[in-house]
Amino acid sequence: MARDPRRGGDPRCARVPGVPVPAVRRTAAVTATRALIVGGGPAGAAVAIELARAGLPHLLIERSRETGDALCGGFLSWRTLDTLARLGIDPDQLNPARTTTVRIFAGSRVAHAALPRPALSVSRRRLDTVLLAAAVAQGAAVERGVTVRAIEDGQVRTADGAVIAAPALFLANGKSDVRGTARPASARGADPTLGIRVRIVPPPAMARALAGQIDLYLFDRGYAGLAMQEDGSANLCMAVHRSRLQEAGTPADLLAELGRAMPVLGEWVAAIAPDATIDAIANVP
Ligand SMILES: Cc1cc2nc3c(=O)[nH]c(=O)nc-3n(C[C@H](O)[C@H](O)[C@H](O)COP(=O)(O)OP(=O)(O)OC[C@H]3O[C@@H](n4cnc5c(N)ncnc54)[C@H](O)[C@@H]3O)c2cc1C
Repeated sequence: MARDPRRGGDPRCARVPGVPVPAVRRTAAVTATRALIVGGGPAGAAVAIELARAGLPHLLIERSRETGDALCGGFLSWRTLDTLARLGIDPDQLNPARTTTVRIFAGSRVAHAALPRPALSVSRRRLDTVLLAAAVAQGAAVERGVTVRAIEDGQVRTADGAVIAAPALFLANGKSDVRGTARPASARGADPTLGIRVRIVPPPAMARALAGQIDLYLFDRGYAGLAMQEDGSANLCMAVHRSRLQEAGTPADLLAELGRAMPVLGEWVAAIAPDATIDAIANVP
């Protein structure tokens, strides 16, 4: 008897995009799925797209109920765009504008270069939304608001006490550790890296000057990237070692110090709204 392609399970089956692949078998105590994806960021969504396309049963669980704007530089290189194209993502969905040049600042020195191929900048809110929507459109099974607490003895336990059994497990939970699969503390090193991000709504002249390019500011124990995103804001995002931030004081102090050392960056720091939120994350792997 011919298989119903909507039932999945056979990678040779033709998939019907948008028709969910049957993902899970539930009993009172245990949910079973062939493949469990933990995390609905770019990595998890990409896996879900591929599994759904292949008609392989799976379940993606994501702890957040709504897609937030993860702290990220948001720069998608030409290679990343190639990968996204293979996943069926049209870059214009992310940002119709392209980034074609880079300026690199170090102290008073600056270098310009054309990028090998066009890239783009996009907020993570947009990127993650588009990727997860593409996964669902391919038939991926996605459950939101479910947090994995522990993965021990081959069992996945969620925050609400449920147990999920899956012979294949894709850990796409990013920098967050899950009990039982945590990275060793030594992996952070003695001077771990932090991420700092602030969004700037620039005056039109500054937005025009930055359009089509990404600025990189290099400094002792860190660097910052600055680019216009699809929503009209400029994303100023940096990776910095903890010791450097401690020397400066607060993230705002560090931005002010870097602005004094690199005057072009200083113009952007001066454009940060007084009530702007400066986001920070610790222990970037
Ligand atoms: C400062 C900084 C700047 C960066 N800039 C760039 C850049 O410009 N360009 C670029 O390409 N990359 C950049 N990166 C890297 C990029 O952010 C990561 O490569 C990317 O986020 C990894 O995607 P991911 O899906 O693996 O993890 P994440 O994006 O972290 O997604 C993980 C997902 O898993 C969910 N999750 C976590 N724990 C659980 C759990 N226990 N149960 C259920 N769900 C869970 C989270 O809610 C999240 O949605 C930057 C990183 C940093 C720190």
